[in-house]
Amino acid sequence: MGSKRSLRLVHLYPELLNLYGDSGNILVLRRRMEWRGISCEVEEVHTGDRPRFTDADIAFIGGGSDREQRIVCDYLLEVQHELSAFVEDGGVLGAVCGGYQLLGHSYLMGDEEVRGLSLVDLYTDRGSPRLIGNIAVKSRISPQPVVGYENHGGRTHLGPGVEPMGRVLYGFGNDGQTGEEGCLYKNVVGTYVHGPLLPKNPGVADHLIARALERRYGVVELEPLDDTEELAANKVMYDRLMEKQAKK
Ligand code: GLN
Repeated sequence: MGSKRSLRLVHLYPELLNLYGDSGNILVLRRRMEWRGISCEVEEVHTGDRPRFTDADIAFIGGGSDREQRIVCDYLLEVQHELSAFVEDGGVLGAVCGGYQLLGHSYLMGDEEVRGLSLVDLYTDRGSPRLIGNIAVKSRISPQPVVGYENHGGRTHLGPGVEPMGRVLYGFGNDGQTGEEGCLYKNVVGTYVHGPLLPKNPGVADHLIARALERRYGVVELEPLDDTEELAANKVMYDRLMEKQAKK
């Protein structure tokens, strides 16, 4: 046996971007690695810290209010080149809601267009009303439907070559119009799905872990875990939403 595998996870601004328990995503990534004998080093980046992406495997950014997003965006613009190099090199980046919106070229905050990180060809403007409620999405990155909760004023528009994370089965997604939800670009997964996302959707967690292992160690088979409870919870929510859909 070779030496123990290990991944380094960078959690960006947990104190500012942690809506609806988004930090729970980090716990899930860590546990699902540890259960498979992969060690996981988590580095939390706080305001004033300069994040290091050179030896990172997974970066994660959660959602937040416009005010918090603004603060984080200013910090991240300072390291835009490093973050962009990480993404272009196949680094894994998970971004939820406010964090997802920052991946694009711009984000409309009130009347002001705020410059984004331009990591993915997308932009976000606003609409009324806010898009709020439970959501289910069919995505190629998860064997189960992706379920969770969304609450955003922003409407995200993908550039021509950008693949959505999936198709909306229930709820609103990127803009409430196209039926598209989130984005996939290289090893970036952007989504409006809070919940938190990964406890409810172990398939998405394993997608992120598998991509990170592949990048660092070459192709690896992910050992299956006993997800009986997670999958039962996922199914309850999916069935409930499909039932509501049928009654509409
Ligand atoms: N502030 C953003 C919006 O309202 C994102 C909110 C969120 O992260 N839930 O669109």
